[in-house]
Amino acid sequence: MSLIVQKFGGTSVADAEKIRAAARRALRAQQQGAQVVMVVSAMGKNTDVLVDLAGQVCDSPPAREMDMLLSTGEQVSVALMAMAIHDLGGQAVSLTGAQMEIRTDSAHGKARIRSIGADRIRAHLETGRIVIAAGFQGIDEDLNITTLGRGGSDTTAVALAAVLGADACEIYTDVDGVFTTDPRIEPAARKMDCVSHDEMLELASLGAGVMHSRSIEFGKKFNVPIHVRNSGVFTDAPGTIIGPLPESPDRPVSGAALTKNEAQLTVAGVPDTPGVSLALLEALATANTTVDMIVQNRARDGRTDISFTVLDSELKAAEMAARLAAERIGAREVRRSEPVSKVSVVGLGMARQAGVAQVMFRALADAGVNIQAITTSEIKVSCLVNRDQGQEALRAVHRAFELGREPANCTTAGESLAAAKEAKAADAGAVIARLQAMEELSIDGCELDETQALVSLRHAPDQPGISAAVFEAIADRGLMVDLIVQGIAEDGRTDIGLTVPRKDLAAAEQIVAEMAKRFQGGVASEKEIGILSVTGVGVRSHTGAATRIFRALSEEGINVELIGTSEVKLSVVVAGEHGARALKAANAAFADVIR
Ligand code: ADP
Ligand code: ASP
Ligand code: MG
Repeated sequence: MSLIVQKFGGTSVADAEKIRAAARRALRAQQQGAQVVMVVSAMGKNTDVLVDLAGQVCDSPPAREMDMLLSTGEQVSVALMAMAIHDLGGQAVSLTGAQMEIRTDSAHGKARIRSIGADRIRAHLETGRIVIAAGFQGIDEDLNITTLGRGGSDTTAVALAAVLGADACEIYTDVDGVFTTDPRIEPAARKMDCVSHDEMLELASLGAGVMHSRSIEFGKKFNVPIHVRNSGVFTDAPGTIIGPLPESPDRPVSGAALTKNEAQLTVAGVPDTPGVSLALLEALATANTTVDMIVQNRARDGRTDISFTVLDSELKAAEMAARLAAERIGAREVRRSEPVSKVSVVGLGMARQAGVAQVMFRALADAGVNIQAITTSEIKVSCLVNRDQGQEALRAVHRAFELGREPANCTTAGESLAAAKEAKAADAGAVIARLQAMEELSIDGCELDETQALVSLRHAPDQPGISAAVFEAIADRGLMVDLIVQGIAEDGRTDIGLTVPRKDLAAAEQIVAEMAKRFQGGVASEKEIGILSVTGVGVRSHTGAATRIFRALSEEGINVELIGTSEVKLSVVVAGEHGARALKAANAAFADVIR
């Protein structure tokens, strides 16, 4: 008998009629012969209402009580859904996170799933009931109620699909599927038939709010294809399959995303001695804040600046942790940027094609948008921009890559589903092992790339169009750039670093020298570098992953020159002479989580 998980988001259960429509959909699937698990979110904007209410009685509500409160939203929905099914002549049982034994850690507000009591759910299914699971919640070791983070019902759904070995995981929402960008911001956005787990993981964590990014971590780890579709009563149209395959193999960029509310924190005047950036990152990880776009400036007079971005929702905690750490390490000050947004493009194809960055930088320059920081990984480019210009920047980038136009050579939903099935069969043993670890950090391995060289344009003016000019010249010569990092601006000037294959170093140096002349900057280059990367699922969302590698390198006295992060890969540039030692240290640091 097949088993299907159907998740209904807030808007899809916003009123009685919608609840009944969802119930009918589940009954239909059951009548077609499937066992059905429904995962339900709080009705409409109920969670927001509860958050607001908490704010009215308390300035900073204790995290435990907040979870106690927020979990009630889902409890209302599951009970009503079970009643609706009962009324339609079906049999159902509603279950809270605790009743499903969804065990989590104790990180209230962003708890991670450790295990799920699948046997109880199976027993209910065997009796012919539809199981209605409360999304977004679990319990910790001491039976405290926990929540997984806003949007977390998606994660409950995919996690249940993984442990139950479901044949399908359907996510019903208020849009037709996953679009090339948020259709509410860019009306020209296009629904995709397929998108790969890797791309969706990046898109979700970079702001595509249609899926909770941790749900895609589950999807990728356990080869669960996810079908995102519209819950509207009159639509039975296929949505988007998130599976192993991208929409089109030829296209460099598949989607664009915007995180609206971010802040950049800069710890200025940090003594440039080994272990200092480690102390800072450790403090941030201890405060359980997830940081992104970590950039460290080149040291001057024995001091350097380190900056990173955090979501507004974690700004308070991050700033406090940074201040305490700054004091301890003898840094000069902690600065908070003006409100910023991060605009990103994502695509598996960009790993094989030159010239993605320059198209993005040109689009932003032509829109008059200044880029405040740049970071890349092999499948994404992110730019930090002034928040007032965020939406405009997203639209400009979406247009520049012609994402509204259907690509040639599209993968079909059927092909993606077949590939998922094949991957699951091939990987069955590993999946069982990974199920034991659920949401824990899972590393595939560490690697050292010694084919690249580093070139930097130093002290360039911090104004629109500079990066565009540099990368257009690079693309004109057909050079493949791997990592790009733009440093923190100081006195209106900034550094831009990039890595290219060693054989292209001379060409890249020449281009950067021309740019330096044009913009009154300087050039620096380093032929022998090593790019050490750690690949796995959760390397960014698990705050401890970055700390591990920094600790390992710092203990070896190895300096990190550049950092590139993505959801599945953490890359650091070190001096070539240290490469082999860095790799050895990294392997040792991750030995316990390499699976
Ligand atoms: P639910 O309540 O069903 O979980 P969400 O509000 O969490 O729904 O997610 C759906 C919303 O995500 C859409 O209404 C849309 O505005 C937004 N969104 C952001 N990025 C994308 C994208 N790339 N594709 C589709 N929707 C997106
Ligand atoms: N109700 C929760 C929220 O609004 C979880 C979810 O909808 O996924 O964030
Ligand atoms: Mg959601």
